[in-house]
Amino acid sequence: MKFTRRDFIKNSFLLGSSALFPPIPVSLAEKKEIKWIAAYEKLEMEGKLAQRVKQAYTLFENCQLCPRKCGVNRQKGEKGFCRSPIKPMIFSYHPHFGEELSLVGGKGSGTIFFSNCNLRCIFCQNWPISHDGKGKEIQDEDLADVMLRLQSMGCHNINFVTPTHVMPNILNATRIALKKGLHIPLVYNTSGYERLEIVKMLDGIIDIYLPDLKYMDADKAAKYSAGASDYPEVTKKAIIEMHRQVGVLKLDHQGIAIRGLMIRHLVMPNRAAGTEKFVKWVAETLSKNTYVNIMAQYRVEYKAYDYPEIARGITAQEFLEAMDWAEKYGLTNLDPQSVAVKNIYYHRRSN
Ligand code: SF4
Repeated sequence: MKFTRRDFIKNSFLLGSSALFPPIPVSLAEKKEIKWIAAYEKLEMEGKLAQRVKQAYTLFENCQLCPRKCGVNRQKGEKGFCRSPIKPMIFSYHPHFGEELSLVGGKGSGTIFFSNCNLRCIFCQNWPISHDGKGKEIQDEDLADVMLRLQSMGCHNINFVTPTHVMPNILNATRIALKKGLHIPLVYNTSGYERLEIVKMLDGIIDIYLPDLKYMDADKAAKYSAGASDYPEVTKKAIIEMHRQVGVLKLDHQGIAIRGLMIRHLVMPNRAAGTEKFVKWVAETLSKNTYVNIMAQYRVEYKAYDYPEIARGITAQEFLEAMDWAEKYGLTNLDPQSVAVKNIYYHRRSN
């Protein structure tokens, strides 16, 4: 059979890269850095971020930003349950080295503490900021400058602590900062008391969600968080949506978080947080590979002294029981620091 030049070219294309351009060895391909782009930057490139900021700002007129749904007009200076004005109030900002290791890295998590709160738990460790509203009112432009300052200090992310009631300001500031060079991931560090509709508005803006899931029972939520009996139900819906948007936690080649969901759960005395129900829900509803931080640092703070069942720290046994439940239900991505605490407690118990 005659083999023409045309046949040669055709067969070469059919053989494709395997013959003419052998595949890059996996090790080399892995080493090649892929440019990571923050979610909000992609949304801006699609021309959608400005519209999202506008849409968010209209929520101030009849404030429905959180499940409290106060309906006050914050544009006109009215204040709702959170007592927050229309301008953002911040207490402090700095590189934070006490957060989860994958957020902290070598240079810290660029944390911004907002004043006021829409949940107001009676055991809050930041009560002067969240209950008493200590802090300073600033403009969205100032907030953008704070974000850029944290980035220039080398922080790996911008970590908004208690962002719910200032979400429109955050969106506006993000767009302003983006135009001036912001490029690191945004961390939405929330109590979890979020409306599903509001979390949907954050789709394509937030790269890392860091919600609490504090209680699994309505009566506990109502008792310890200013009547928020709907907390377990609305928070579970919000977290499912966060998981849909960003998936399980992804790290870069240096182990720094770049995208995904990280859930915090504080173990409380006398099983007040419903930890067994919590880990079961995560394992059965989200993914067993969901990053979960089961925290041992409950302290009696603020008004918790008035509630005898939570007026003490947790015991080692209570923490070990919580970690055992996490293992029993098959969670595979537990915070390394909580695993270390578990190992210390086990070691002490067996000596
Ligand atoms: S953000 Fe504040 S004013 Fe708005 S609904 Fe929530 S608690 Fe009320």
